Amino acid sequence: MRIVTGTISHETNVLSNISTDIEEFRKRHLFHGDEVFQHFEGTKTEAGGIIEGCRQNGFEVIPTVHASATPSGTITKEAFNELLGDLLSGMRKAAKVDAAVLHLHGAGVSEEYPDIEGKILKEARKLMGERPLVATFDLHANYTREMVENADLLIGYDTYPHVDGYDRGVEAVNLTRKILEGRLKPATGFTQPSMLPALQVQFTGRYPMKRLIEEAHIMEALPGVEAITVAAGFPWSDIPEAGMSFIVHTNDDKPLADRLAQGLSDLAWSLRRDFLVKPTPLREALRHVKAACEGPIVMADIGDNPGGGTPEDGTIVLKAILEEGLTGGVVALIWDPAAVVRASKTGVGNEVKVSLGGHTDDLHGKPLDLKGRVKTISEGKYIVKGPMGTGSESDMGATAVLDIAGNDVIVTTKRLQPLDLNLYRSLGIEPTDKRFIVVKSSVHFRAAHEPIAKEIIELDTPGLTSPRLAGFGFKRIRRPIFPLDFEMLGITELKSMDEE
Ligand SMILES: [Zn+2]
Repeated sequence: MRIVTGTISHETNVLSNISTDIEEFRKRHLFHGDEVFQHFEGTKTEAGGIIEGCRQNGFEVIPTVHASATPSGTITKEAFNELLGDLLSGMRKAAKVDAAVLHLHGAGVSEEYPDIEGKILKEARKLMGERPLVATFDLHANYTREMVENADLLIGYDTYPHVDGYDRGVEAVNLTRKILEGRLKPATGFTQPSMLPALQVQFTGRYPMKRLIEEAHIMEALPGVEAITVAAGFPWSDIPEAGMSFIVHTNDDKPLADRLAQGLSDLAWSLRRDFLVKPTPLREALRHVKAACEGPIVMADIGDNPGGGTPEDGTIVLKAILEEGLTGGVVALIWDPAAVVRASKTGVGNEVKVSLGGHTDDLHGKPLDLKGRVKTISEGKYIVKGPMGTGSESDMGATAVLDIAGNDVIVTTKRLQPLDLNLYRSLGIEPTDKRFIVVKSSVHFRAAHEPIAKEIIELDTPGLTSPRLAGFGFKRIRRPIFPLDFEMLGITELKSMDEE
């Protein structure tokens, strides 16, 4: 059997002013044909899982394009059309394939298409005709009718932090085999409760999200049920379908698929009040760290998470740390290419003056005029050792570590969510020796940091990924939706929080 595969993956934050052109994909991953093997074969990633799944089944795998960019603003029309063109021409060239297994994200928006995955699957369906078309998705996917109607199977991650991309890739290929052998005729149930959870409460290691995943797994064990996806959605795509979704695939039993999908939707709705977020005020957290005897305490700057499309040059937490006189910590990280150039020119061991961060927009703090000592200059590449994307290469671009008032501040030329402990170690920083660690991340940091953290604190910081969703003025999300229309729904908890 011959399986064609391809990746177009972007989580689009339409409020970000970092435009996503083809260069943004080149900065992270843009590979064609056999280059995909070089970068992903043997890695614990979804692309690696699709390749390995094909190998295990004795299938030939034909890669077309692998494009993914760090989350950012709307994808330009030219960039998306180029990538879609690469995928479709690759599929055409592959000829005589038996099935397609694509790796998508599910929350991509281009200037032309609010639902790029719907467009990709619709075009791929035209090429595949009756042959199986299967796709894997992120837990932050905003599923749409167009996506569901054009794919035979839609397989999403079960985890956030996303540690099961590889497993879902293998699963997608195994299920494709069942279709090819005539043992599976997929029927699909698809529901969307009127819920738009913030990122923190999408953490699958904690109630209430954990409860939904467990329920889905119980249902997956029922006879005739093949695969169930619980998707928490991504609010900042601001499309009508943004938010929570459930997809149930059964073997030729549409009523069962519909019933189970509705059951999950009803369960989520019944838990909706537990999907509200209460992060810790910044100053309260810093005073707590000051008084603590043991570290590291990991503080998550949840308002400036580049994994949700923020600039990652926010200065609000660093400014407060300096004002509180905290020392012995590490800040991961601040994106500021000009500051890295300055530090490089100044040289290791010397004192440098920088106007650090706060350059992209008005939402994440102002630039800080600071003096620091250049501790390290690095090319900023490392191999991921932790549970998310194990074995793949991460790239921060040229990177400087500055000692600012007794704290290691990591400054980079590329935006990258701090997910892995090798990020620190590749720069000569031992994270377990630190009193505190600041990560610009909402949930993903937990996979590698929980085992070493004495404590984790989610900071109530402003920014483009703040959980205070009511403040963003979303225009296209379907209404009413919880928690944006809480008053209409007779819910008062969030109102009191927003008035703080
Ligand atoms: Zn995600």
